[in-house]
Amino acid sequence: MARMPRTTGLWYGMHDTTAESATSEAFARNGERVMSPYAASAGTSRGRRFPEPEHGFRTPYQRDRDRIIHSRAFRRLEGKTQVFLNGTGDHYRTRLTHTIEVAALARTVSRGLGLNEDLAEAIALGHDLGHTPFGHMGERVLNELLAGTALRGFDHNQQALRVVDVLERKYPGIDGLNLTWEVRAGLLKHRTPDTTLDGVRIGTVLSCEAQAAHVADDVAYCTHDLDDGLESGLLTEAALAGVALWERARAAALAQGGRPEAESFQVFVIRCLIDLLVGDLIETSRAPLAAVAPAMASPGPDAGGAAPGTPTIGFSAAIAVQAEELRGVLFQRVYRHPDVMAVNQRMAGVVRDLFAHLRAHPDQLGESAQQRMLSEGLDRAVTDYIAGMTDHYALRLHETLCRGAALPPQ
Ligand code: MG
Repeated sequence: MARMPRTTGLWYGMHDTTAESATSEAFARNGERVMSPYAASAGTSRGRRFPEPEHGFRTPYQRDRDRIIHSRAFRRLEGKTQVFLNGTGDHYRTRLTHTIEVAALARTVSRGLGLNEDLAEAIALGHDLGHTPFGHMGERVLNELLAGTALRGFDHNQQALRVVDVLERKYPGIDGLNLTWEVRAGLLKHRTPDTTLDGVRIGTVLSCEAQAAHVADDVAYCTHDLDDGLESGLLTEAALAGVALWERARAAALAQGGRPEAESFQVFVIRCLIDLLVGDLIETSRAPLAAVAPAMASPGPDAGGAAPGTPTIGFSAAIAVQAEELRGVLFQRVYRHPDVMAVNQRMAGVVRDLFAHLRAHPDQLGESAQQRMLSEGLDRAVTDYIAGMTDHYALRLHETLCRGAALPPQ
């Protein structure tokens, strides 16, 4: 592990030529915004697995953001389902548009709290890179199929780390995108006390920037699934009557001149809801961050500055309860709606068929998956191959390879 050199400022040394030094100096002043003491700084990064010279006008976390955006896995997010099957409606979120919304919210929360926006943005952009086709149903099926194997299940967060560490290949002689330690750690959302990264125990508490990215994910999916649910007609305003967060956002929309009879009213309510949630997050998190700031003068285990003890970025108790209520409505009315469940069941069949077929015919795996099979085994190779697929690719391949396999009727 190459630890990046510490310097006194926010930036640190780069290649040592006169012209570049001048660039570096200018960049040192402007590259990272002035941040709070608890923000991670690229200057105290734990660095990359494979050392490489730093860049003249981008911070390491900006480079990580760009590496993720330029990856194949990122482009494939466009073809993966968020909730409504990819391609069934022009306005529904895909895994890509969801990710972009998460990144925008993560930046807002980070800026509001004086955190490192570049780091939070990079984590947000990478957070769903390990997602399977067909949304959470694809993940659930792979998890079931792998539960009894040496892989012991499947988790899209772990798979996101695998994507950036192993599966993407862009640099000569190394696997992965060679991201900084902080971005990689930030992708490991669900941790136990035994969770390790590069053989080092990293504890259960994420860096402030990773917390900001993951809580932005919560805001994004809650609000846009509400939007898509209304757009689809599975959810109606009547069904939301009495739901505390909806009522609060609706009142805010009315107070700002929204007219319930206008076609755009529901969308405006959702805009007000996002504002309400993000405002609550920032207001609520300021005090706990200030309280832990002195402990962050030296880098914590997970970033340039990491929160010791408990998570620090979160909603107020009242909003947390109301957000849970809203999630309950989404589960009942959208995620578990019979129409959505019927599509999910069909797609679960596609994933099961592909898994069984490819395990039986490994010669039909993609070329790099066949290579990985030799070093990492059949289950891993098949899992990587399927997890990386877009919905359309999985359906096409199913049609080609599993013709005759009985899909549940539409
Ligand atoms: Mg997400």
